[in-house]
Amino acid sequence: MSKYIFITGGVVSALGKGIAASAIGALLEAKGLRVSLQKLDPYINVDPGTLSPFEHGEVYVTDDGCETDLDLGHYERFTTLRTSIYSNYTSGKIYNNVITKERRGDYLGNTVQVVPHITDEIKSAIKSAVTPTTDVLIVEIGGTVGDIESLPFLEAIRQFRYDVGKENVLYVHLTLVPYVKTAGELKTKPTQHSVKELREIGIQPDILLCRSEQLLPIEMKKKIAIHCNTDVDAVISAVDVETVYEVPLQYKAEGLDRVIDKRLFLNDKEPDLSIWREVVNKIKYPEKVTTIALVGKYVGLKDAYKSLMEALTHGGIANNTRVNLHWVDAEEIEKRGADRFLSEVDGILIPGGFGSRGIEGKIEAVKYARIKKIPFFGICLGMQCAVIEISRNLCNLSANSVEFEPNTEHPVIYLMESWYDYRTGKIERRTINSHKGGTMRLGAYPCVLKESTKAYEAYKEKLIFERHRHRFEFNNKYREILTKKGLIISGVSPDDQLVEIIELQDHPWFVGCQFHPEFKSRPTDPHPLFRAFIAASLKAQRTLFH
Ligand code: GLN
Repeated sequence: MSKYIFITGGVVSALGKGIAASAIGALLEAKGLRVSLQKLDPYINVDPGTLSPFEHGEVYVTDDGCETDLDLGHYERFTTLRTSIYSNYTSGKIYNNVITKERRGDYLGNTVQVVPHITDEIKSAIKSAVTPTTDVLIVEIGGTVGDIESLPFLEAIRQFRYDVGKENVLYVHLTLVPYVKTAGELKTKPTQHSVKELREIGIQPDILLCRSEQLLPIEMKKKIAIHCNTDVDAVISAVDVETVYEVPLQYKAEGLDRVIDKRLFLNDKEPDLSIWREVVNKIKYPEKVTTIALVGKYVGLKDAYKSLMEALTHGGIANNTRVNLHWVDAEEIEKRGADRFLSEVDGILIPGGFGSRGIEGKIEAVKYARIKKIPFFGICLGMQCAVIEISRNLCNLSANSVEFEPNTEHPVIYLMESWYDYRTGKIERRTINSHKGGTMRLGAYPCVLKESTKAYEAYKEKLIFERHRHRFEFNNKYREILTKKGLIISGVSPDDQLVEIIELQDHPWFVGCQFHPEFKSRPTDPHPLFRAFIAASLKAQRTLFH
């Protein structure tokens, strides 16, 4: 039977509940336990796929094709877990299920209420993330205690302890202990209030993870323990660290693993955190430095590219290198030219994206990388821009993607109406509503690599599975003309219908992929393409000083 750890947050948002949940996962895996993680989001959207990256950060995609909260990315990076449809539920999804059941008559005419119907639905959602091999499920409740929306979730997790027994459930509360400069003191009041609020709804936290700028002195821990009704050793200092991958080490130093053991009766094995120590050392004390330009649209909002930034760091870890990111707004390239922004970088990356804003600037950046022979990595939209650039400037076609120009003369990137979905074994049809609409190709798809290519060199295997999230595809009609001019198609779907990776001849490293490799990269297992891209950038390094 699985044990459950519920993580709530108090005082303010953005304290890093996702990292806390993930780091606890890493700590437990280091003890040889098998963990699963889940996020419960109080907002009403049925899934996060339609949320603006400006507002909610990156949309993370699972192997089974779910568009989810970016915290699932942390879960996968810190543990060996591969998340799925069962790893993320929103209020909208929960209500949707309950309303569907009600319409079907499942409730036999009973009045359908938040308690017990919504709470029961939440409890079965929680159990859905447990497999027969799960030792511990860690559930993160989005939002902050006190929000109206989170109440049904908190009520459900309160009941959960009664359902499965108190020796199987642990409540962890992440809170803030601010340092007030003028008083020169750490303040515990916000934590006391937040715990009071939790206890009012019937949840007594077992462990308090206190975010603070400095380690809490023992007197401070005692004070918090007394006011919040917890043990002193269960008050954990969660201080700011240089890299998020240091958090499992920091929790261990604070004895968090022992407190969890004691409460949940797990095993008393010492966690082996050597891989995390190695990761942290490589990040903190790199031997080399490289500068990568990221040419995108949401340059103001780093959360929109969360997994990508992490994957670049992982590529750095694999090469003992610090990766400096140089953010470039594609629209600025349109206004002022590429040279101004890209002349001193070692590599150029164009990430995924939607919509026409900044597209011409991105295409300029591709051209710059191609002509100046700067290592280039195009991801999803980035690959599509590369295909457009090559079509226009090497093949002399007046080309575009139909996403940006529906009636373009040469639609080198277009909407494919159907394709083979290996998961269902059926032909998947794209529902096309307008030139912009259409269902997305989502989740992991197989890709066969061609030998003697940069892609094969990086992966060193023939069959790979990578995650997709896009509507448009490479138009097979243009395969011949483009390959004649130097394009290499290095990865295709097993039926050869979908172009998944492209490269360029006579270039140190020019790779574009239709999928999002960043979703599968881990600090302990850097993604092959990021590893290779950073290696190529180091090799091509043109600037001596950084
Ligand atoms: N907008 C492009 C498409 O839908 C690329 C999407 C992406 O980069 N994720 O195909």
